[in-house]
Amino acid sequence: MSPQDDRESQAGAAVTDALSVAEELCHAHGVKLTQSRRLILEILANEGRPLGAYDMIEKVAAATGKSPAPVTIYRALDFLLENGLVHRLASRNAYLACGHGHRVQDLVVFLICESCGHVVEATSDALRQDLASLAAKTRFVPHSQVMEIAGRCQACGAAEVASA
Ligand SMILES: [Zn+2]
Ligand SMILES: [Zn+2]
Repeated sequence: MSPQDDRESQAGAAVTDALSVAEELCHAHGVKLTQSRRLILEILANEGRPLGAYDMIEKVAAATGKSPAPVTIYRALDFLLENGLVHRLASRNAYLACGHGHRVQDLVVFLICESCGHVVEATSDALRQDLASLAAKTRFVPHSQVMEIAGRCQACGAAEVASA
């Protein structure tokens, strides 16, 4: 695993990517990407940054002219989460589209900028191996492996240097 691979794994993958991955995956799993599920995914992929459920209600209302019930949004999100099409950032209580088509239980690392809210989704084979041996040593069976790292992105770091 080179650092390059880490960097190529970007958050907010292109909308078309996220949607085509979703179509393929749903087809393969024999599940349906209904209109409301598709719309939620499209909104998240378009946004390219994490959105809370209530932001999504507003966006759905803007797109359809009807304010959806929160339960509709949560049901669609649950479906998308179960199928690895979105991630939930616990530290932000927000959701992010994922066009990587990886398995739900795969290790993902989120690098979250505290200044601008930009999030990069990365993976790391080295981390995956370390965690696998840690789990084996403690006889622990991980169900999800999500790491959320808070900090400052390159752009915000550069802006700070420029204004200093
Ligand atoms: Zn992902
Ligand atoms: Zn930033």
